[in-house]
Amino acid sequence: MSLLVVGSLAVDTIETPFARKERALGGSATYISLAAQYFVGADISLVGVVGDDFPAHAWKLFKDRGFNLDGVEVIEGGKTFFWEGKYHYDMNTRDSIATELNVFADFSPKVPNAQLKPEFLVLGNIEPRLQSDVIDQLQAQPKLILLDTMDYWIKSARPALEETLSKANALVINDSEARLLVETPSLIVAGKKLQQMLSPVTDRIVIIKKGEHGALLFFNDKLFSAPAYPLEEIFDPTGAGDSFMGGFIGYLARRGSIDYENVKRAVVFGTVLASYCCGKFSTEGIESLTLDAISDRFKELQFLSAFQEEPELAIG
Ligand code: AMP
Repeated sequence: MSLLVVGSLAVDTIETPFARKERALGGSATYISLAAQYFVGADISLVGVVGDDFPAHAWKLFKDRGFNLDGVEVIEGGKTFFWEGKYHYDMNTRDSIATELNVFADFSPKVPNAQLKPEFLVLGNIEPRLQSDVIDQLQAQPKLILLDTMDYWIKSARPALEETLSKANALVINDSEARLLVETPSLIVAGKKLQQMLSPVTDRIVIIKKGEHGALLFFNDKLFSAPAYPLEEIFDPTGAGDSFMGGFIGYLARRGSIDYENVKRAVVFGTVLASYCCGKFSTEGIESLTLDAISDRFKELQFLSAFQEEPELAIG
């Protein structure tokens, strides 16, 4: 199943209350593709832009996994998108210390001819106008178009974001961004309102991430509450949201069909990839996993959240 990933390719400096790492590999497309490949293997194409300072080990990571990089533009003499983030003590909240767009400032995504009919498309967090432009370039409707966004675009580019949402059928968003986008305090109401903003043509899927409290899935008229993995030590949460998306869409692409049970499992696999991501700095936590390790954590989550029927109150 072919997967097209569009998003940022970045160099990040990350500071947590316990450690700091300068110029690590980052970017939404990086985390999404590294997480998804456990499920889909090499059938992943990237669209993005970098400068000639993009780390050699990043190219190696992508090439070793067989990703198609024809859609990654390299600007000679240009500097790769740079982001610096500082996490607060609870590791749930962070401040963006620096966002240097560099080559990203003039980025206009160009999907290579051979990738114009992807079965699955994931649009990482970039300007909504560019996300919409990618959808318009496609020559066939993918089985799933999954979208990410952030508070910055909700505040600064709402009309373009609304247009992009109307062309997509799945959205992953965190709780505070969901409340901001539909201006409502209830996450249940927010999820339903967000579904109404998506394309009416296919299934409408909204996932609201609640950090260490799990995620809510809205699948058409169904609701599912997924637990978070109880990770004892969070080392670096950078990329957790993107790893979630990669695990989620990677699993669905592997299964090939988008029904409620598959989508629920995909949310749990997304949660598993996000938890591995938080266990080490930068992309290190999702660079060398195995399907066995992923499956073990999936089963742990299943065990942790299962409970039995109450016999005394059961009717009949
Ligand atoms: P996440 O922690 O899942 O939200 O993703 C963090 C990644 O997003 C980092 O590796 C950053 O390089 C990247 N990032 C941060 N800000 C932006 C932005 N404004 N546009 C695109 N990517 C960004």
